[in-house]
Amino acid sequence: MSILTNQNKEQMYAVLRQYWGYDSFLPLQEEAILSVLGSEDSLTVLPTGGGKSLCFQLPALLKDGMAVVVSPLISLMKDQVDNLKDMGIASCCLNSSLPFEQQEVAIEQIRKGKIKLLYISPERLQNEATVDLLSSVALSFFVIDEAHCISHWGHDFRADYRNLWMIKERFKTLNVHAFTATATKEVQRDIIEQLRFIDPETHIGWVGRPNLTYRVMPRKQILEQIMDVLGKHANEAGIIYCLRRKDVDAISADLKGLGIGNIGYHAGMSDKERHTAQEKFASEEVNIIVATIAFGMGIDRSNIRFIIHTGMPKSIEHYQQETGRAGRDRLPAFCYMFYSGRDYRLWSFFAKESSEREVMMKKLSAIYNFCTQPQCRHKVLVNYFGQDYDKRSCDACDYCLNELDMIDDALIVGQKILSCVKKVRQKYYGFGAGHVVNVLKGKLNEKIEHIGHHNLPTFGIMREESEIFIRYMIEQLVGQGFLSKEEEFSTLSVTDSGSRLLCGELSPVLAKPLLALKKKESARMTAKRREEEWRDIDQGLFQRLREKRTELAQKRGVPTYIIFSDKTLRDITAKKPATQEKFSDIYGVGENKLKSYADIFIKVVKDYEEGPEGFTGWKAEGISLLKSLRKKR
Ligand code: ADP
Repeated sequence: MSILTNQNKEQMYAVLRQYWGYDSFLPLQEEAILSVLGSEDSLTVLPTGGGKSLCFQLPALLKDGMAVVVSPLISLMKDQVDNLKDMGIASCCLNSSLPFEQQEVAIEQIRKGKIKLLYISPERLQNEATVDLLSSVALSFFVIDEAHCISHWGHDFRADYRNLWMIKERFKTLNVHAFTATATKEVQRDIIEQLRFIDPETHIGWVGRPNLTYRVMPRKQILEQIMDVLGKHANEAGIIYCLRRKDVDAISADLKGLGIGNIGYHAGMSDKERHTAQEKFASEEVNIIVATIAFGMGIDRSNIRFIIHTGMPKSIEHYQQETGRAGRDRLPAFCYMFYSGRDYRLWSFFAKESSEREVMMKKLSAIYNFCTQPQCRHKVLVNYFGQDYDKRSCDACDYCLNELDMIDDALIVGQKILSCVKKVRQKYYGFGAGHVVNVLKGKLNEKIEHIGHHNLPTFGIMREESEIFIRYMIEQLVGQGFLSKEEEFSTLSVTDSGSRLLCGELSPVLAKPLLALKKKESARMTAKRREEEWRDIDQGLFQRLREKRTELAQKRGVPTYIIFSDKTLRDITAKKPATQEKFSDIYGVGENKLKSYADIFIKVVKDYEEGPEGFTGWKAEGISLLKSLRKKR
């Protein structure tokens, strides 16, 4: 790591203040920056919202030459470049979507040494003409953004990323720095090997996202469940993830029918339609997007307040990545997942077709276990990525908020179900959950009568429970490894630990199905959260500032967060700056933003204070004063 002298520390802080308008670094940023300034390769893993971009953008300004950032998505590149330009940093991108003339301009600027940061797609970097161009100019270092795309073990594998080791061959004297948000130990190892790093510096941040609250519930009437969530998040931005395109179309249409404005997004739509959807969401024209996972990697909107999963994703990595899009501004955000055993079956069907079958099934079991095991959700996620979780309660998941009703006699419930599975199982074939539920419930149907399962001692031993209850118990027992589902027909069988449960050596942890958000708790929590979030914030002024931000963003054709984040608007609302000098103290206002926007936003504050709202406030006070005076007389 490069030695941190007082002089370069001062320089780092001066640049942070001048361009970004921030006063301090977030955890691990300083360490990652020092690695980029030093002379070794490095790998930095920081969660979404952890501030990865700054870790390489800032050193690019301190070093001579141009930094080259490999990025997997064109929309991501464009946003980053727009953002840098807005801060007054010379940057550009090279990728296949750029019109020829714009490419020529970019290349000309690169040749003249005018660019500090170049964003480039992996395939473009591997083109000989590009290698020649880059070899002819002074470079500072290379960055591989979203580096997990390099690994088969990751969740967004990109074949083009696999060849990036060529950087070390072709640009021998330069260092390469890899950044990602989600990487298990296997993925970290793979990134280091694939990029041919020798003894790199690594900075592994805390993967936990304490500002996110997780809730996981069985899926029932999904539209009602979605509406239940939306009721808690009026006027807030959120993503509703669906597993299939047709679910996107159906849910999007149903919500529109109910008067909920939203936009759909999936890979079956044309490029133009998808682009429009993304722009509408980024520019805050639309707050709710219903999408498959095709929507996401390029989403930098920082004020997404909720994520709904209408089905279980295929891995914890996906879940972490998708929920990670909420609350990038580090303000509270909420994640709701509605899952079903059917999702497990769907994913295992795809896994069977894949050459990566074993890896996929391992990942699928981990996410299914996450859904079905009642325990602290934050702890499971953090442990999955190989880190310890010491807190006794996260206070931010359904389990720790005591929203789950635990079953007192879980061992007995488990034994009833497992003994039924054992009894119905024949030598060569078994039965799926539906049949087991019917037997336990004591439901006499043709199949049961024909096989004679109504004569079993377990027939009807859970008669008083609902079908959904029994099914949910079975899912939890599968998720916790006491039962296993065989692939083709999802027939159930008792595992070794299931046999130990039957002997009473092990006990499951079972929760009752929670189909709707708990009314009392969540209402109390929502009220408390709103109070905390809006303390010191005048909502009327905040709204005016948002409108101005949208107007500016639309004029410039950039997403709103490129102008200012919500956090900056809140700071303006709280401090109500009246001069340029005061405006420069606002969170996230660097020199360039001060020049571009201070006067515009100061005027919004001034107009608001002098305008009808201010007058109404004054008038209301005056009226109550008059009333009290009248009373006295
Ligand atoms: P990531 O790429 O890791 O998800 P970003 O680079 O998008 O994170 O940063 C997330 C947010 O945090 C952005 O709004 C960014 O401006 C802000 N941020 C980054 N560094 C700092 C800092 N040192 N202080 C305050 N905010 C920061």
